[in-house]
Order: sequence, then C-alpha cells, then structure tokens
Amino acid sequence: MHRPLMLQRVNVGHKSLADYATIATRGLMDEIRRLAEPLAGKRVVHLSATAFGGGVAEINYTLIPLMNDAGLDVEWRVIHGREEFFDVTKTIHNALQGADAVLTAKQRRVYEEFTELNAAGFVDDYDFVIVHDPQPVGMIAHFPGSRARWTWRCHIDLSTPNRGILAFVLPWICRYDAAVFHMHQYVPAADDLPAAFVWPPAIDPLAPKNMALSAEDAAYIVDQFGIDIRRPLLTQVSRFDPWKDPLGVIDAYRRVKDEFPEVQLALVGSMAHDDPEGWDYYNRTLSYAGGDPDVFILSNLNNVGAIEVNAFQVHSAAVLQKSVREGFGLTVAEALWKARPVVAGRVGGIVTQIDDGATGWLVDSADEAAAACREILRDPAAARERALRGKEHVRRNFLTPRLLRDWLALFNRQLGNETAGVDLDLARQPVVPP
Ligand code: UDP
Repeated sequence: MHRPLMLQRVNVGHKSLADYATIATRGLMDEIRRLAEPLAGKRVVHLSATAFGGGVAEINYTLIPLMNDAGLDVEWRVIHGREEFFDVTKTIHNALQGADAVLTAKQRRVYEEFTELNAAGFVDDYDFVIVHDPQPVGMIAHFPGSRARWTWRCHIDLSTPNRGILAFVLPWICRYDAAVFHMHQYVPAADDLPAAFVWPPAIDPLAPKNMALSAEDAAYIVDQFGIDIRRPLLTQVSRFDPWKDPLGVIDAYRRVKDEFPEVQLALVGSMAHDDPEGWDYYNRTLSYAGGDPDVFILSNLNNVGAIEVNAFQVHSAAVLQKSVREGFGLTVAEALWKARPVVAGRVGGIVTQIDDGATGWLVDSADEAAAACREILRDPAAARERALRGKEHVRRNFLTPRLLRDWLALFNRQLGNETAGVDLDLARQPVVPP
C-alpha cells in the first residue's frame, strides 16, 4: 500500500474586505461584519476539480481570501484525477446539462475509484465543507461520521438533466446537509434532497480581470495580439466547449461582416486541465474559422491572462456569450460590469443578468446574434445606454461581497445562529430534516 496523496492546497493570497467598502453598500458591509462575528475561527474547506479555468476557480480566488479576511479559517483543495477520470466527469457534466450520454460500468468504477483515492487524501477536520460541482460530489460518502456541515455548490444548468446520470449522482447529493443552486429551475425534483438554496455567483470588481482599465490601455493590450484597434471588434471569452457555441459565434460574425466588412472577431478561451474535450473543440473552432485573418482564436497558451481578458472585453464594440446552456455565465457579468453591450444566449443564468432590450440583447440563434451586433455597430450610443443599465444591475446583484454575505448567512443558519435579518432563498426544505 502506498500512502494516499494529500489533496493539493491552492494558494489564494490575501484580500481585504475594507477595499470593497466603496463598491458595496454600507448596509451590505455591516451585514457581513455581523454575520462573520459568530463564525470567527471556523474552519472551512472548498473542494473542487481545478484551480485553473472556468467559473469555479474564478470565484474561489476572490471568495476564499475575503472569507479569510472576515475572520474564518478557509482553505481550498483540489482533487486529483487523470484523463480517464476527467473524461468521466466531463461526461457527467455534459449529461447533467442535458446531453445524451450513458456511463458504462467501467466509467462508474473509474469515478468511484478516483473518489475513494481522493477521500483517502482528505483530512476531515473542518466545520464546513463546500464541494463544488459534480467532480468531487462523491467524496461525502467516505465521511459518514463527519462533524462538518457539508454543502454541495452546483454551478451548472440542471434544468433538463439526463435522468440516468442524475440518478447516478443524486444519492451523493442527498447525503449533503445543504445544496446551493444558481436558479430555482436547477433544483432537482428528488424527494430526499437536502435543504436547497438559490443564489447566483458573483464577480470580483477589484480583480485584474474586472478592475477599471482605460480605453487606451485596453487598446494598447489588444493591439499586441494583432487586432486592428481602429476597426470594430466582437469578442467571446469562453472555454472551447459545445455549450458555449463558438462555431455559432463565427456564423454570427460572418453575417455581421456582410454589412460591416471591417469587423473583427476574437474568441478567447482558456484550457482547463479537467477538460480533455477542450482541445478537440479548440481545433474544430480553428478549422471552422478557415484561416480568416480577421478571426483571432486565442487562449492562455498565447498568454491571455486576466488583464488581457479585461482588455478584450473593454475594447470590444460588443461582447458575445452565445451559449446554448449556461449555469450562470460569469463572462456576461464581467462584460456588463465594463458597460459593454452584451449579446447572449437566452439560456440558464444569463437571463437573470440580461433583461432583453433593457440591459442587453438575448438571442436564440446565430442570425439573431448577428442582428443584435449590427444594431450595436449602427448605433453605439444607444447600445451604451443599455450597457450602463446592465452595469448597475451587476453592481446591485453580482459582486463578491453579496456572495460572501450569502455564504456567511448559510453557515450561521447551519449552526442555528441568527442570520442578522438576511433572508436566504430557501428553494426547498428537506423532507426529513437533517
Ligand atoms: N475565462 C478566462 N479566460 C478564458 C476563458 C474564460 O479567464 O480564456 C474566465 C472568464 O473570464 C470567466 C470564467 O473563466 O471568469 C468562465 O466562467 P463562466 O461562468 O462564464 O463559464 P464556465 O467556464 O464556468 O462554464
């Protein structure tokens, strides 16, 4: 027997809540302080599949340092997995978002074996365990006598899940003390589901990806990637994934180009290590673009990091997020926060961010996406007005201090404390109280 490999800890650095005081309201900052007091020193661990790429990583890098600054003792650990495991978890992820799939007996075994291995590398010595998404969901089965409160945080669109694969993960989900979803439609209809809460994720307005960047600095940065900064640019920032529909974005761009021949397109997408399918889809996107010199397909391999994503969003005439399924879509909040006109699929959590016609454009096809982009290019001033309303919507609802407040309220509730007047959106009471 070899010794179990301990789950790797992610270094999240430091952040100070005080820095957010000018962005969040005084009332919210007071709520956070009140809620944090009884939780001083409580030990919290976040478990996830990867520390790089995708929304969960994005959120944790801000939420965790702020939870620490609020006085809790918080860490983040990532599970181990090889390609065979991540192939299975990607299948589970896709199927939970509605894809047609079955898991073979061997795939189920791979999932369970890796889960067991990961459980052996986890020391269950916390007050709260937060498990993100399906990849580590099974961990809980290995800690039946745990003293911690376990919460499953779902980041994906569970509104039309593949029933067979939902049935595979449900027994684990049902062991948790609580589950948190982005939207009411995502809460599965299962009798023995734990208490289910609904709140959206959030973006960090002070992180390099979202901090204020001047138009000149943004132009300077995108220029280095070969973009002609005098010509209009459309951008989608997304992993290369069928749900994000990069091919549909290329279709839309081509239709815009009929009217605006000078338009350019940037598809910016990072490669997450738990996403083996990503490479395949990257190559498909590349060949679909067919060598068009005005289409720029970039990734972290071209050194597109947070600042560069920021610059692409700031510099774009319109930002697209043409998803066909989307748990929430942080990229939409990111672009709205920069007051950019946003054209996005009418799916999942995107509809909580964009009120069609008021704060952005919701579309159901490449044709509609193209029409919206043409409208934006024809009348940028009107588009900007919409975008500014979108920014205010993000300020009120989708910035990290609000997310921190919701977690602190849940922890207090789980300990039977007062929640300082914060009403969490309890979508479903457990049938049998834990
Ligand atoms: N992202 C990035 N670089 C990329 C692609 C994505 O930094 O090349 C970030 C993006 O800015 C956002 C997150 O990854 O913060 C993606 O979150 P989202 O909710 O939009 O989608 P998910 O990947 O979780 O499905």
